[in-house]
Amino acid sequence: MINQKPVREVMTVTDKQTLTPHYIRICLTAQPDTIANIATMTIGANNKVAIPIDKTQALDLEDKSSFVIRTYTHRGVDVEKQQIWIDFVAHGDEAPASGWATHAQVGDELGVMMKPKNKALCPETDHILLVGDATAIPVLGAILQDLPATTSGHCIIEVHDKEDEQDLPTEANMTMTWLHNADPMHGSQLVNAVKGLTLPTAGQSRFAYIASEFASVKAIRQYLKGEQQWSKDELYAFSYWKAGVAEDQSASARRAEKDAD
Ligand SMILES: Cc1cc2nc3c(=O)[nH]c(=O)nc-3n(C[C@H](O)[C@H](O)[C@H](O)COP(=O)(O)OP(=O)(O)OC[C@H]3O[C@@H](n4cnc5c(N)ncnc54)[C@H](O)[C@@H]3O)c2cc1C
Repeated sequence: MINQKPVREVMTVTDKQTLTPHYIRICLTAQPDTIANIATMTIGANNKVAIPIDKTQALDLEDKSSFVIRTYTHRGVDVEKQQIWIDFVAHGDEAPASGWATHAQVGDELGVMMKPKNKALCPETDHILLVGDATAIPVLGAILQDLPATTSGHCIIEVHDKEDEQDLPTEANMTMTWLHNADPMHGSQLVNAVKGLTLPTAGQSRFAYIASEFASVKAIRQYLKGEQQWSKDELYAFSYWKAGVAEDQSASARRAEKDAD
C-alpha cells in the first residue's frame, strides 16, 4: 500500500515556460521526499496554492494574512529533476494567481497544499465526453493522457484563440474540438457545442467530465442529466471559477475545499 502524506510546503520556482499566449507553466522544486510523495498521487488532482501577497518577504504558511489561497491542478511531476509543475491561465494582472504567474521569476516562492489522492479521475468507460474551458486543460490533459485506446469520445475545449490550443496526447479515439472565446467573463459556446453532439444513449458505458466557468457547467449538467438522462455516476461536473467573483468569495472554492478532503 502506498503511504501518502499530506503536502504543505513552500516551494521555489525553478523554471517558467509560456506554453501559449495565455498559458504559463510554473515548475517548482521542493524537498526530495515531498516530490517522491507527490509522485504517488494522481496527476490532474487539485491542490491549493498559497500566493504570497508580498513576494519580497519569505512566505510563511503559518501566517494566513501573508498569502491568498487558490485552487490549481497538479499537472506533472519529475522525481529526477525534483520538480512538480502547475499550469496557470494568464487572465490578467489584477487577479492574485494569474498576476503572480505572469510575473513569476526563478527563485520566487509558492505554497503548495495537497491532500493524499491516488484515485483515478474517471472510471473505465467505452465512451467519454470531456468538456472544459482553459482552466480545465490541465485536468483534461491528464485524463486524455491516461485513456486507453479502447475508449472513444469527444473532447471540447474553449480557449482564447487558435494560438492557445495545446497538443494533448492520447491513445483514445477522440474527436477534439477547440472553440475560441476571447471574453470568457461574458459567456461561452461550450453549452451549444455539447448540445450539437450525438451522445451515447442510456445503457451504454459512458462518462462525462465537465470543468469550466460556473454558468456553462450548470447548463451542461442540466442538459446531460435532464434531456440526456445521464445519472450522477456517469457525470462529474464542477465549476472551476465564477465570472466576476474572486475564488475566495465563490461557492466553488468551498466545494473544491470539500472535494479535497
Ligand atoms: C479543482 C480546480 C482546479 C483548477 N485548476 C486550474 C488550473 O490548473 N489552472 C488554471 O489556470 N486554473 C485552474 N482552476 C481555476 C482557478 O482556480 C480560478 O480561475 C481562480 O479564480 C484563479 O484565481 P485568480 O487569483 O487568478 O483570480 P480570482 O481572484 O479568483 O478572480 C478575479 C477575477 O478574475 C476572474 N477569473 C478567474 N479565473 C478566470 C479565468 N480563467 N478567465 C477569466 N477570468 C477569470 C474572476 O471571475 C474574477 O472576476 C481550477 C479551479 C478548480 C476549482
